[in-house]
Amino acid sequence: MTRHTEPERIEALVIGAGFAGMYLLHRLRGLGIPALALEAGDGVGGTWYWNRYPGARCDVESMQYSYGFSEALQQEWNWSERFAGQPEILRYANHVADRLDLRRDICFSTRATSAHWDELGASWMVETDTGRRLIARQLILATGCLSAARLPDIPGIRDFAGKVYHTGQWPHEGVDFTGQRVAVIGTGSSAIQAIPVIAREAAELTVFQRTPNFSIPSRNGPMTEDYAGAWKQDYPARRAAARRMRTGILYNLSQTPAMSVSEAERRAEYEARWAAGGTAFMAAFSDLLTNKEANDTAAEFVREKIRGLVKNPEVAEILVPRNHPIGTKRICVDTAYYETFNLPHVRLVDVRKHPITRITAEGVEAGGATHTVDSIVFATGFDAMTGTILAIDIRGRDGVAMREAWADGPRTHLGLMVAGFPNLFLITGPGSPSVLSNMIVSIEQHVDWVCDALAHLRREGLSAMETTPKAQEDWVAQVNEVAHRTLYPQANSWYMGANIPGKPQLFMPYVGGVGTYRQICDDIAANGYPGFAFTAAEQVKAAE
Ligand code: NAP
Repeated sequence: MTRHTEPERIEALVIGAGFAGMYLLHRLRGLGIPALALEAGDGVGGTWYWNRYPGARCDVESMQYSYGFSEALQQEWNWSERFAGQPEILRYANHVADRLDLRRDICFSTRATSAHWDELGASWMVETDTGRRLIARQLILATGCLSAARLPDIPGIRDFAGKVYHTGQWPHEGVDFTGQRVAVIGTGSSAIQAIPVIAREAAELTVFQRTPNFSIPSRNGPMTEDYAGAWKQDYPARRAAARRMRTGILYNLSQTPAMSVSEAERRAEYEARWAAGGTAFMAAFSDLLTNKEANDTAAEFVREKIRGLVKNPEVAEILVPRNHPIGTKRICVDTAYYETFNLPHVRLVDVRKHPITRITAEGVEAGGATHTVDSIVFATGFDAMTGTILAIDIRGRDGVAMREAWADGPRTHLGLMVAGFPNLFLITGPGSPSVLSNMIVSIEQHVDWVCDALAHLRREGLSAMETTPKAQEDWVAQVNEVAHRTLYPQANSWYMGANIPGKPQLFMPYVGGVGTYRQICDDIAANGYPGFAFTAAEQVKAAE
């Protein structure tokens, strides 16, 4: 590690060069604010750079899971499928980086390790794992919500003689499972996509399931010229409409409560949505996430589908989710997931009945039996929403660590700023719609808000801004209150931090919807940023 003697000064430092970091660089450049992004990987793309597991695919349609800020960009890029796979999304990210000439402002293969607020200089002192040191007026964390991959605390992982993989840190060269005996641990979105693809290669596949999830078929297919053309002709209007939707996705969101129609009508609606595929299933009725009775009808419909798709009734019953309302854990979207369990070389182990006790040199020990395998795939998820932020030793005013400030769970104002941490901005942080939405729509909204705030600082001759503790407390209470009007808190989900032993349990994203949230943020900016405090530049100069 080389230790650079003098730290470099930069106006704005961005951490991460995924879709958020890339758009930030573009916007900051447009404002004439000198900026640099640090990126741990050796390429752009964030989530899509790391998650290269077989079958990785976005479950938001490609025409919508793409930047909307540039008409030229959205007209020139052609998607090949309704739901793009990881390689195509990564190509798109690289195309954007080239097209906007972003790489010259990205420092790759460099991880920020600490960021300490210097009160006198009103700046962030940032250290990295390469020894590069920076002093930045503004620090913007574009570190991703699902980027801190997590291996479970199962004893013996290091003893395993075969290969160990995590879906979120997949080898760039790919993995050939041909002829192998493979174990997949976990049955969340990543596993549900990977299992059917791994099953095509593996000689034997054993899936270890702790909690079954609800999954809807994607009905993915090639993009048609008609479909892409209709979007491209109408992009500005459609993007504008999507930005006002609850999820930031333009789809048919029913206004009808489920119990206000007959059982036959309900079934017909579920059948139509099941046939169309994708997450729009959850928009079949207006109250599926707020009314348990309504939710039960959708959940029971999917349970019946699972029983119909899986030939062995015992296996089907293991796959049927019962412990959470449908949609309160992230709904999964698949291609032939349930059907994969009809293949003779695919086995399912119910980890609740047969707990995994350890990993041995040979394989996975569960319920007293050893499942001998050549490779283990951990599809065990992430330290979501806070993991990447807390991985950096962040210290704000008076040396207070973010870890201390968030000891009882993340507290933010709007998911954008944290009291006591001036000039530190979060992109899609906890307390914003983020993971409950089309991430690119939420990223663009946050980046625009932050960049507008920075433009405001410059215009007004201000050097620093931060949220007031009162505004933060009010927002935390509001996030909590809105969440408890829904069924979401009824599930032990990673939204609640429940997947990480010892993590404070608190519903992290804002459930109120992308459109409502955008309006709140816009109103705050339009009204001169109530709830935020500013420092005048002269005050800092005087102190210097
Ligand atoms: P996840 O949803 O957190 O799933 C992790 C899985 O591992 C769960 O089934 C969990 O079981 C299991 N697990 C964890 N520790 C275990 C242990 N010790 N023993 C047995 N099983 C264990 O993670 P993910 O599948 O990577 O997905 C995370 C999120 O990424 C998704 O919810 C979604 O937001 C996003 N994602 C999106 C897409 C897409 O766009 N299509 C694809 C992949 C991921 P429990 O449920 O019992 O904890």
